[in-house]
Amino acid sequence: MSHAIQFRPTPALPLVESNQTFPVGRIYCVGRNYAEHAREMGHDPDREPPFFFMKPADAITANGVTLPFPQATKDLHHEIEMIVAIGRDGANIPVEKALDHVFGYGVGLDMTRRDIQGEAKKMGRPWEMGKAFDNSAPCTALKTVAMAGHPAKGAIWLKINGTVKQKGDLSEMIWNVPEMISCLSKLITLRAGDVIMSGTPAGVGPVKAGDKLEGHVDGVGDLTVTYSK
Ligand code: MN
Repeated sequence: MSHAIQFRPTPALPLVESNQTFPVGRIYCVGRNYAEHAREMGHDPDREPPFFFMKPADAITANGVTLPFPQATKDLHHEIEMIVAIGRDGANIPVEKALDHVFGYGVGLDMTRRDIQGEAKKMGRPWEMGKAFDNSAPCTALKTVAMAGHPAKGAIWLKINGTVKQKGDLSEMIWNVPEMISCLSKLITLRAGDVIMSGTPAGVGPVKAGDKLEGHVDGVGDLTVTYSK
């Protein structure tokens, strides 16, 4: 049987030093995973278990592109994050086995329409329209575990037009990578092709048309995105 309509290609991330790609199934994002960021968003980082939200796979955008400023927002925010690519299915994964499910790592931006998200929070509504929109997940090529290891410490930062806005260290995550994989796999069956955005350090803030964003995670990669004027 063939499809009744022409369907878009499977979203995929390139791999560093490879001509293969990593097909993206689903994108799960961890909320408030760095204490300083939880505080800047008005929350107590100590008492909250991890929570997750999603972006569509086709929110993935390639490294180095110029993007149109997103529609329907006057308060677009940057959130620089390490991304974790899942290479093996699993449910109820114990923390000690969680890293066996990782294919590789990259750098991503959880772009956020903060005005829409804020309104949704206030109204007790879902966050999706603040988080899951066109081009809301720019990402670098992935490094495999063989290339990157399992990064658990190292600088993560974001600059706008050359000025540092976000700065943190992977070791400051409230829930580390094995713990977030284990927690998420107790809520849904993780599938090969899933991507986890692992949370952002403090310093989130607005992005304007014409801004150049540069993000970095030590040993993982560098991401550049420019918004057109
Ligand atoms: Mn985020």
